[in-house]
Amino acid sequence: MTAAAHVLHEGYARSDGVASTVGLVRDGDQVIVVDPGMVANRSLILEPMERLGVPPQSVTDIVISHHHPDHTVNIALFPPVRVHDHWAVYEGDRWTDRPAENAQVSPHVRLVETPGHTPQDTTTLVDTPDGVVAFTHLWWFEGIEGDPRAADLEALFRQRERVLEIADLIVPGHGPAFEVSK
Ligand SMILES: [Zn+2]
Ligand SMILES: [Zn+2]
Repeated sequence: MTAAAHVLHEGYARSDGVASTVGLVRDGDQVIVVDPGMVANRSLILEPMERLGVPPQSVTDIVISHHHPDHTVNIALFPPVRVHDHWAVYEGDRWTDRPAENAQVSPHVRLVETPGHTPQDTTTLVDTPDGVVAFTHLWWFEGIEGDPRAADLEALFRQRERVLEIADLIVPGHGPAFEVSK
């Protein structure tokens, strides 16, 4: 058994608007939403979930790649669930510190710390039947050379190399998924 990874919403960063790539992972009994951030309309998150047969009430975990509002602003679209970031898991009124590096969100989903865009960036790695899918803000979209807003470009490039070693498919913060050529 492995997990299933889906893209609910393909993000973009254009002069007339910015939206987050929003991911969904099903792993056994767990339903994980990655980066419920800015979208033009919340139905753009909810309708793809409906098509997958996954009601919002079934979500058990939310992972955010980093703290910018374009990737977090729709967390409350879901019932109160565990929220995972670079240094803690939040549930109800409990804030549990833990490092994100190799933190297991579910049996086939783990986090790695990938600072660069911000010092607080994490990448979500999902074991699927087709290989490892990485939800990450190390790329805004395929082919982008650096990151115009990176806090630390050198760190970003180092982390990109690491993730390219591990992943077969990259799901970037603001664009369509792309395959890693090995
Ligand atoms: Zn950001
Ligand atoms: Zn972003």
